[in-house]
Amino acid sequence: MAELLSVNEALEAVLGRVEPLNAEPIGLAEAPGRVLAEDAGALVDLPPFTSSAMDGFAVRAADTPGRLPVVERIAAGRPAPRALGAGEAMGIATGGVVPEGADAVVPIERVTTDGDQIEIAELAAAGANVRPRGGDVAAGAVVVSAGVRLGPQQIGALAAAGVGEVRCARRPRVAVLTTGTELRRPGEALAPGEIYESNGPMLQVLLASAGAEVVPLASVADDEDAHREAIEHGLAHDVLVTSGGVSVGPHDLVRRIEAELGVEEVFWGVSVKPGKPLAFGVRGPTLVFGLPGNPVSSLVSSLLFVLPALRALQGERDPEPRYLNGTLAAPAKADPRRDELVRARLTSSGELEPLTGQESHMIVRAAEANALVYVPAGDAELPAGSTVRYLAL
Ligand code: AMP
Ligand code: MG
Repeated sequence: MAELLSVNEALEAVLGRVEPLNAEPIGLAEAPGRVLAEDAGALVDLPPFTSSAMDGFAVRAADTPGRLPVVERIAAGRPAPRALGAGEAMGIATGGVVPEGADAVVPIERVTTDGDQIEIAELAAAGANVRPRGGDVAAGAVVVSAGVRLGPQQIGALAAAGVGEVRCARRPRVAVLTTGTELRRPGEALAPGEIYESNGPMLQVLLASAGAEVVPLASVADDEDAHREAIEHGLAHDVLVTSGGVSVGPHDLVRRIEAELGVEEVFWGVSVKPGKPLAFGVRGPTLVFGLPGNPVSSLVSSLLFVLPALRALQGERDPEPRYLNGTLAAPAKADPRRDELVRARLTSSGELEPLTGQESHMIVRAAEANALVYVPAGDAELPAGSTVRYLAL
């Protein structure tokens, strides 16, 4: 691990190897969490007709204030029966079609009803409580742009604009392989020297949260044949993510077996804490990440490098980690050589409190974190009150 790449160099090296996956048509019900491959345009004006924003009475603003006969009642979902004449009012529901001739809706709370007449005491402004046709979006205009991941508001917007099917990149198929003779599944008894396998479950949920279709492979012992078989199988996916076995020990087999199987190593080693021994390579179109086995290292490496790759595979705009600015609640000591991602708690007052227990095996301590503070390498201590970049978890 002669020269370590900086975090930015490593991210660029990863993203430089990503080819976005093909797009496929999908129904809106299947689209949440997917990334649009092309702009989606409105099929109709929205609103599709001039509509009322209130329950009330459609009038001509020029007839207010005044006493007007109520000549029709317009429910939502029906065309207006006829145009509104001068000196007339029509009852109208929220979302009802504002009739030709009307230019204002007076809310029901602002009128006094007297038989089939209403008394409007105040002047109504032209356009009051009237939603113009196409006021939200015009037919043909872009509702959601290519590269946007579809959340609830985008799904709502597409449905409102009549879009029932969109084109999205295929979801990346990601094989997750954990390695280590010492690993047992939760629920099994631990023999001396064994630990519970936690990276697999963690990575599965993390990668799925970024849109991956995760294929969990059975954990393998530190055995060459077992590695060869499992890695070969994993390489048949869009992405292979392994955990463990990428350090310098005699039992660290992942990189050697991957090289044997034709994986071109792009880099090994990033100047970051935790997560230094990260390995990244490619075989054909398959991206191959070798995460360090320590659970917090696996987590941080995934957040910094694997998730951006998954986002880029899906064609997401700005796939890089999204750093926010925050303020340190307590001092943070920088590592002299490596940039560090410090687990922290973002308080409701917006300050970042570094947690105790920053070692890379301390996943339970890390479970309390809702932020990862980026502390650049250096000799200084960042004092409380420093502005820092952080990733929200
Ligand atoms: P390695 O990168 O294989 O040297 O592993 C580094 C440390 O992480 C060792 O203490 C391993 O026991 C631990 N470790 C490796 N894989 C996992 C895993 N899947 N779940 C929990 N701990 C692991
Ligand atoms: Mg190991």
